[in-house]
Amino acid sequence: MVKGAVSQPALLGGEPVRKRGFPGWPVWEKGDEEAWLQVLRSGKWYRGSGKAVDAFEAKFASVMGSPHCLAVANGTSALMTALHGLDVQAGDEVIVPPYTFIATVNAVLSKSALPVFVDSDARTFQMDASKIEAAVTDRTVAVIPVHIAGAAANMDRVMEVARRRKLKVLEDAAQAHLGEWRGRKLGTIGDTGTYSFQASKNLNSGEGGAVLSADSAFIERCFAYHTNSSPRKGAAVAPAQGANLRLTEFQATLLMTQMERLETQSKLRDANAAHLTKLLGEISGIIPAKLEDGCTRSAWHLYMFRYNAGEFAGLPRERFLKAMAAEGVPCSGGYTPLNKQPFLENVLQSRGYQRLFSAERLRQWRERNQCPVNDKLCTEGVWFTQTMLLGGREDMEQIAAAISKIRAHAAALAKG
Ligand SMILES: *Cc1c(COP(=O)(O)O)cnc(C)c1O
Repeated sequence: MVKGAVSQPALLGGEPVRKRGFPGWPVWEKGDEEAWLQVLRSGKWYRGSGKAVDAFEAKFASVMGSPHCLAVANGTSALMTALHGLDVQAGDEVIVPPYTFIATVNAVLSKSALPVFVDSDARTFQMDASKIEAAVTDRTVAVIPVHIAGAAANMDRVMEVARRRKLKVLEDAAQAHLGEWRGRKLGTIGDTGTYSFQASKNLNSGEGGAVLSADSAFIERCFAYHTNSSPRKGAAVAPAQGANLRLTEFQATLLMTQMERLETQSKLRDANAAHLTKLLGEISGIIPAKLEDGCTRSAWHLYMFRYNAGEFAGLPRERFLKAMAAEGVPCSGGYTPLNKQPFLENVLQSRGYQRLFSAERLRQWRERNQCPVNDKLCTEGVWFTQTMLLGGREDMEQIAAAISKIRAHAAALAKG
């Protein structure tokens, strides 16, 4: 029996397994401060005046093994920019997973395109790529596999169906810094891949984002788009719509210094996650998310598992989460079914969408917008955040001890 299983659960008045907090986020040192102040004192604060954004793009491209990188304001604008570069237009359809952050879908809606959901794979929490083909219609132009938690969606299958059905592939790698598919960095396998550097992400400048691609013409279209239709000097880009989605010099310089820690932090998360998976494997009713076979490295932005209440005396997940928090181990229930959120129906009923899509098409969409595996997954999923993997091995042992303790007292917790 794991230590801690015998004492009373903290939720019922016992001693918590853990009294210290988990490692804080973000982390910075003197070097980050110096670099940041240098930008401040230079008075060159925006991309057009300084060199930090250019330097960051070169560095990120090289670390990712991608020929080109465009830095943008955030992960959402990275998705919007990439969709522009792929020529996704009003009335198009784009295939997306339901187990993702809302931004993936908002980016599609920003183009007045229709997001079409394919169900999740319960074992991996990733998009079930075997179901993509059934979602393709004559209007489908692209698919957005999301590398959720920093683990890889099945890119072999995604690329195979995309090639066959002539779909563009945009990898949403917002959570996947340094994650890999068969040794290649996530976000470099499809036509394009996007990243986020928002505060919670494994590489953080408060806000920030990037678009990667091997296609220089695509990147130049994206460049012009992200700076109000103004092409890079010397680039031949057909005049088109744009926006201002530029990263600032402050964010870029912070990303440069933050990136020096990325590999070390990533290795630490990897080692801790492996230890935690081994420990959780011994607790019935806790099923850690499996990595796809081709996922040679996960970024561990989240540590996800399924909670089977049946193995915990029927203790509902919500109460399990409360009991964990009381033990000093915070966790969350993760995403709710995105494909069923009310904002989607409001969009479909909007004047614009009524003009763009026939009543028959929208009826079919509603009828086929069923993701039963994902619905169940959303009732079972539990997450730890990436910062909880940045401490020592004993932290993993305490996480497992808290779960074992709750399991040993599950019947009492269910009643109380
Ligand atoms: C964070 C995130 C985004 C959006 O990034 P922002 O920088 O917050 O705009 C998009 N997709 C996924 C999967 C994310 O986790």
